[in-house]
Amino acid sequence: MTVITRFAPSPTGTLHLGGARTALFNWLFAKKYGGKFLLRIEDTDILRSKNSYIEQICESLKWLNLNWDNDIYYQSKNIKEHVKQAYKLLDKGLAYKCYCTKEELKREKDFALQNKIPYKYSGKYRDFKGNLDKEYVIRIKVPKKGSIKLNDKTQGLINVNYDNLEDFIILRSDNTPTYMLAVVVDDYTMKVTDVIRGDDHLTNTFKQIVL
Ligand code: GLU
Repeated sequence: MTVITRFAPSPTGTLHLGGARTALFNWLFAKKYGGKFLLRIEDTDILRSKNSYIEQICESLKWLNLNWDNDIYYQSKNIKEHVKQAYKLLDKGLAYKCYCTKEELKREKDFALQNKIPYKYSGKYRDFKGNLDKEYVIRIKVPKKGSIKLNDKTQGLINVNYDNLEDFIILRSDNTPTYMLAVVVDDYTMKVTDVIRGDDHLTNTFKQIVL
């Protein structure tokens, strides 16, 4: 199997040292195994993404000699596929429509705060069958029992109980995909074999494994 890594910056700012470091490790890993290093621009945040940042990121990578293989993959061009996959999960009963209003969710959060318990979405609509004429988001059904095993190549085997995760949102009420969904669909589409990124993404990784 050909090793495929990716560097996936969001063009909401210029390339910083941490990003350059992530890109370097992805590039080195791909080179070591005679694989491919891909560049994915995560430009779905229309308000904050700027072309000038995309240019700066690409120029900086070239200046560092971290040349990528294939054409640049723009996340915004794959939104239809992200949405399609969200509905596929819904059809399979692996996700559900959540009709909770902002006020309801706020009440849940306030309750947790007042009772000093960590907040986790209640899963109110998890087993609801049927459709309401109301705005909804799509949430993934995180399994109730068992655990997620992440074999992290630097930190070793990490085990997290599903219990620690809430049924997180994959599609917003305006039909746009969340970061969590887009990343998984794109990594799959791009046939990424190894994800190398900052430690700050560790908690996201568990959710992405669920997806
Ligand atoms: N776009 C994300 C960021 O710039 C990275 C996504 C990922 O590595 O999964 O932090």
